[in-house]
Amino acid sequence: MSTSKKSSLELFRLKKTLTALASKEGRGTELVSVYVPPGKQISDVINMLRDEYGTASNIKSTTTRKNVMDAIVKVQQRLKLFKEPPENGLVIFCGAIPQNGPGSERIETYVIHPPEPINIYLYRCDARFHTEHLQEMLREKETYGILLVDASEATLATLQGRRLDIVLELTSGVPGKTRAGGQSARRYERLRDMRLQEYFTRVGKHADDVFLPIENLKGLILGGPGPTKFDFEKGDHLNYVLKDKVVDVIDTSYVSEQGVKEVVDKAPEIMRKVRYVEEKRLMQQFLYEIGHDTGLVTYGEEDVRRALQSGAVRTLLLSDSLEVTRATVKCSACGYQEQQTVKNQMLASLEQTLSGKPCPKCKAPALGVTETQDIVENLAELAGYTNAEVEVISSESEEGQMLKNSFGGIAAILRFKSQG
Ligand SMILES: [Zn+2]
Repeated sequence: MSTSKKSSLELFRLKKTLTALASKEGRGTELVSVYVPPGKQISDVINMLRDEYGTASNIKSTTTRKNVMDAIVKVQQRLKLFKEPPENGLVIFCGAIPQNGPGSERIETYVIHPPEPINIYLYRCDARFHTEHLQEMLREKETYGILLVDASEATLATLQGRRLDIVLELTSGVPGKTRAGGQSARRYERLRDMRLQEYFTRVGKHADDVFLPIENLKGLILGGPGPTKFDFEKGDHLNYVLKDKVVDVIDTSYVSEQGVKEVVDKAPEIMRKVRYVEEKRLMQQFLYEIGHDTGLVTYGEEDVRRALQSGAVRTLLLSDSLEVTRATVKCSACGYQEQQTVKNQMLASLEQTLSGKPCPKCKAPALGVTETQDIVENLAELAGYTNAEVEVISSESEEGQMLKNSFGGIAAILRFKSQG
């Protein structure tokens, strides 16, 4: 599984958790967020929380005071399970969340292992959870190359997540368009063009040196003022691998560092477009197989699940807007167990329906939901057993809408024809 493939699932997971957390509201200022960066001593954090516990004892409202103090104790308990913070640090959210109107608060605790190191040490007590520092991790993390070029200079930079490195700045040495007196216009033009081509070749070589060694270079963005960037792109100055990676050619006002910053400002939009193109390509492949009746695709939860179990799936396509849960229903009398797929909003009514229902095996009215899993996680887990690639497709695009509406949000491109 390549990094980019895994990341659409990883990002989906984090996004889903953060969306759920961000929507939670406390009754008062009583939700605790704690960020522990790697390398921080757990004992320091526990001591800091002890001080906060002391401060909280001055809170006037009895309920808020109790809820804050309870939350702090819970966080301390969780922290004590760690000798030191995990590799990427640790984030804990804890607080009394109203379950069903006022008075129904229940302390909820969430321990998040961030997908990359957090570099912030923070304690906040607020009416909401402070998820924004984790939200930043949802940004694409692949590296993009930036190459700005005009007739007088060129700048090469790399952008990885938020990290921008200006690697190289070159000047062309190509004389301006107006010639010095005494030379023939045509000779001057020819000479200038030759110098320009030499300069392009030089820029291309530097680009190869800088960008080719980057593992998982996601794309190359060309820019600069005026038409020179297009001339550069059209010529054979870039290695063919890099040429294939050009994802966008954009206008900037400058070639210098300022120009690079202009590209960075537009980067989120460019990256969305790149992902969109990937998703479109996947969906088009899926639709091609359907249209040509090749038998190399399947869709709908049951068929896809069967194909996954037989190892037939090459690429699993899942809509990011599936609000569906895989629930394990178990009989506490005889141990009978079955799995059911339900829409998230139907989960509560499933539990209600089960409460009076006899177990199909022992007939005792002892059925209950013992475990739930998001359908995306559930199918991705199955995919993992046979190294099928998992792509979470955004429902923002037309293709994503089609996956969601016409194919139930679950589809697969197959390695071989699946039986049945
Ligand atoms: Zn039973």
